[in-house]
Amino acid sequence: MKLNLQQEESRPVFPKRAVITAGMPYGNKELHFGHIGGVFVHADMFARFLRDRIGKENVLFVSGTDCYGSPIVETYMQLVSKGEFSGTIEEFVIENHQKQKDVLDAYKIDIDLFAASGIGRSAEIHREVSEDLIRKLYANGHLIKMTTSQFYDSEREVFLNGRQVVGQCPIEGCSSEKGYADECSLGHQYQPVDLINPRSTLSGKKPEMRDVTNWYVDLEKFYPLLQKWVEDLKTDPSSRDFAIKSIEEFLEPPVIYVKKEFLEEIEPLADLLPPYEITDSGKKSSLPMSFHSLEEREKACDILSQHGIRFRTGKTLVPFRLTGNIEWGVPAPSLEGTEGLTIWVWPESLWAPISFTKTALEMKQSEDNWEKWWCSSDAKVYQFIGQDNVYFYGPAEMSIFMGLQGKDSVYPAPEGAIQTPELIVNNHVLFLNKKAGSSSAVKPPMAGELLEHYMPEQLRAHFLGLGLGIRSVSFQPKPLNPKARESDSDPVLKEGNLLTNVFNRVVRSCFYTAQKYYDSQIPAGDISVEIIEEARKTVLEVERLIYRYEFHLVMNALDLYIRNTNKYWVRNIRQAEEENDDTLRRQVLIDCFYMVRIAAILMHPIAPEGTEMIREYLGADESFWSWDRIFEPVNAFTKAGHKLKFLEPREDFFKKHPSQFSSK
Ligand SMILES: [Zn+2]
Repeated sequence: MKLNLQQEESRPVFPKRAVITAGMPYGNKELHFGHIGGVFVHADMFARFLRDRIGKENVLFVSGTDCYGSPIVETYMQLVSKGEFSGTIEEFVIENHQKQKDVLDAYKIDIDLFAASGIGRSAEIHREVSEDLIRKLYANGHLIKMTTSQFYDSEREVFLNGRQVVGQCPIEGCSSEKGYADECSLGHQYQPVDLINPRSTLSGKKPEMRDVTNWYVDLEKFYPLLQKWVEDLKTDPSSRDFAIKSIEEFLEPPVIYVKKEFLEEIEPLADLLPPYEITDSGKKSSLPMSFHSLEEREKACDILSQHGIRFRTGKTLVPFRLTGNIEWGVPAPSLEGTEGLTIWVWPESLWAPISFTKTALEMKQSEDNWEKWWCSSDAKVYQFIGQDNVYFYGPAEMSIFMGLQGKDSVYPAPEGAIQTPELIVNNHVLFLNKKAGSSSAVKPPMAGELLEHYMPEQLRAHFLGLGLGIRSVSFQPKPLNPKARESDSDPVLKEGNLLTNVFNRVVRSCFYTAQKYYDSQIPAGDISVEIIEEARKTVLEVERLIYRYEFHLVMNALDLYIRNTNKYWVRNIRQAEEENDDTLRRQVLIDCFYMVRIAAILMHPIAPEGTEMIREYLGADESFWSWDRIFEPVNAFTKAGHKLKFLEPREDFFKKHPSQFSSK
């Protein structure tokens, strides 16, 4: 009966300590369903699993509200001008932060710290971390100062930032709906001057260009190291192919796309232009001209413009902007006389998890320093992100972290330097087949709204079952779908039904039978060999799947296991009752309590409330959840002669939402 987990061959190895992050929800509104369903539930499931697997004290799950930047200022000013908000911008952000926090609680997201980059102690620490980090990058020679032209609204007499300018993305083949001042809604970066048809959102007029000086991270320098990193990702079976592909797009050599009809005009310029290569694939109307460096491409851009040749630039590693002139931001240190700048919101949100780790450790009065969690090969940082943010958490973040090593950086990072975080990139969760934010007849719901129709555990199970690691998937809640017919079943309840129907039924049956025949005790005796074998196989399978972040397959494996448990129960208990066979009844109960125990621990990260209720009724202590003891039976966690808590008739471990009863 005693199985030693450690002796199993080819089991995945987990780190000694883990930091989990789930991006930073932006502070201009409450959370929409995509925040919860696309990132937070996955991160939370993984964090909860690791707490059971490597010990609660070795896991830190941190995130927080992204408080700064121009979209917040914009939303705030709009609300104030409409008379819908009367406080300060800080109060506006605090209000949104509180709403976000409440929704995370409602979904049982068990986060060690949900902080805010601009509020309270975490904001103070974040300022220190930001200043320190930028000074280090500067001292290490990884920052460059560049003067560029920025959009300026001469009617309003202000510089325009980010989303205050809209136009079309200049990147070849981009399908984004909007291009903003220097990035499009798909995260492509470009020089503001390249934005097509710019318009100020303040005055509606075409803005003018004025010179500004800012600091940038020299990403191009990290190109060879980023390539090594991508090569590693390719050999790692837990990496997602689509994510690797989109990272690689940013690592392509500097390219200019020109239309075929301009080729004749370019040829005579060959002597003026830096060395280039043109690849003619035959089919496409635009051809790529590739250059050796970004600098040479910039030179070529100038020359082509001077000769009136139209072109578009391809994705490549351009300098990553660190500073800007939005007042509502973290102050940037003054370097070489650049006074009064603030840090652009994207870079500071990339290192905010470090600030939050420090804050969390301080709040726990831990003696650990943050480096123990970020800079040790014993530890690992897991970042759950959406596919739109791959550029920032990928090439940009990795370069910044590597740049902190010193003048010369290496990959993989040496002990004591920030270790390369693991990125778990999810595809989009669409709403009724539309991407969130796109205009459609039915507005995508806020996360809180869904709880008017579903229990949090039903939604958690559903979001995990979507398979966002493979492709974007549409979320189709029947109560919010105008096209759903009365007779349709609700696709969102598919996974939840496993809990509220099948699992709930078998757990209740075990308790009622123990109450009826065995004085509320689990009968003593050995668990059947085939039951132990199935448990072992399932546990190891689930462990392997979680290690590879294949959460939808975890749901499938649990579906199979719980349905098998139920079948085993139904088939054998009927026979025991019919033949009044007490030996069989005892054995079925012993076996099924064991299967309930195994299913509960595997389901614990997914449905924490229902499984905690199972533990409470079993009367087991907290070590019930420890994977170190995962194969031990329930009796190992209770005193001899222990009686189960009495289960009243019709008591549910996994509950349905009140609205789901009337529709039956
Ligand atoms: Zn674009």
